[in-house]
Amino acid sequence: MIIVGAGASGLACAYFLKTNNAIIIDKYEGARKLAITGNNRCNITNNLPFEEFLLGYGKNGRFLRDTFSNFFKDELLLWLKKFGIGTQEENGRFFLKNASSKKFSNLLKSNVDKRIKIKKFEPTMSVRKLGNIFIVQTSKDEYKTLNLVLATGGKSYPQTGSDGSGYSLATQLGHKVVDLEPIEVPFCSKNKLNHLRGTSLRDIYVTLKLGNKRITERGDILFTHFGLSGPVILKLSANSFKEAEISIKLLDSPLHTVKKLHLYKGKAKNYLAKFLPKRLTELSPHKELQASNLNKKQLKDVENFLSDFSIKVKKCGFKRAFVTKGGVSIKEIDPKTFESKIIKNLFFCGEIVDIQGGIGGFNLQYAFSSGYTVASTINDRIS
Ligand SMILES: Cc1cc2nc3c(=O)[nH]c(=O)nc-3n(C[C@H](O)[C@H](O)[C@H](O)COP(=O)(O)OP(=O)(O)OC[C@H]3O[C@@H](n4cnc5c(N)ncnc54)[C@H](O)[C@@H]3O)c2cc1C
Repeated sequence: MIIVGAGASGLACAYFLKTNNAIIIDKYEGARKLAITGNNRCNITNNLPFEEFLLGYGKNGRFLRDTFSNFFKDELLLWLKKFGIGTQEENGRFFLKNASSKKFSNLLKSNVDKRIKIKKFEPTMSVRKLGNIFIVQTSKDEYKTLNLVLATGGKSYPQTGSDGSGYSLATQLGHKVVDLEPIEVPFCSKNKLNHLRGTSLRDIYVTLKLGNKRITERGDILFTHFGLSGPVILKLSANSFKEAEISIKLLDSPLHTVKKLHLYKGKAKNYLAKFLPKRLTELSPHKELQASNLNKKQLKDVENFLSDFSIKVKKCGFKRAFVTKGGVSIKEIDPKTFESKIIKNLFFCGEIVDIQGGIGGFNLQYAFSSGYTVASTINDRIS
């Protein structure tokens, strides 16, 4: 059998296969993305109970009920122990304790490579099925197989190998791909924010305005040379949009601050600098005026600045995105086996499928669980 893609899901699938009569083909050396996950600490899963965990994938989460019944957190943590890797819990999220993501990915690859050959630096260009046989054409060779697994990931961070070419392999075999969109991605802005580069704000409210809809999250943000990043921005990027406005509430109680500001004898910006990064105070209206001299209208301007610092943004694109929304339609995949409902003996696992979770280890848990499910199905069939 052939697995295309030696990332998190493809390697898990290879690891759990009982047969050695298989190869795994990768565009690069494999596991590039796994090696950089979670800031090199790999946020592997989290401690949410089963039903809440499913909600972490939005409406498609129900599709994962069977696969998580086979292989969920306990199984994943036990599996890591086989590599001598423990985990630690931080704010409900599990990270690797005594190994980096890179070390884990190397251990996984070398473990798989003992039994199943990893064909490296061999991008798969096309796939077709003749009778019962899949014909896989790579940049170097042509391979034939009875069982084919597509584990090519999404389209985000293409420098790790997941460049979206897997979707075209799926469509070559007749599958539909649900519209793709970058998520867990920073926001780019044309506004001149360059002078704010490197400025961070902690534990603030950020609202994404989409037409009449308002989505508010609380957390940390970071101004960068291209726009905005940080946990709260990545979270808001789960929403679909092309262009939007975000509103940042710079302080918790702007009205209270402005009342105090009016009693201050110095420049307005010097008072605000007690609560805000200096570079931000430079954007405040009437910043150079003596605060106690500000009139009602001017105080209202400052209050508005503090409560609604608005920026026009768009998503920065797949290159900077952690995850791809969309993918091979789950309507055409059996949730019990991850086999195609259209083509017998064709399987999918990992991010190529239209399943994506939020920040918190959802995507890796799913990648490993789906890899396990595909391996179990094939093991049952060939035993
Ligand atoms: C910077 C970063 C940090 C992340 N951190 C976390 C985290 O901490 N926790 C979490 O849950 N998720 C995290 N994610 C998301 C998570 O890493 C992915 O969802 C997961 O790796 C998907 O696994 P996969 O096997 O489907 O795809 P991938 O891991 O992307 O693997 C796909 C493999 O297929 C190969 N391939 C692609 N096309 C072809 C082709 N045509 N021919 C041959 N080979 C091909 C690629 O080279 C690659 O090796 C992070 C993502 C990024 C970018």
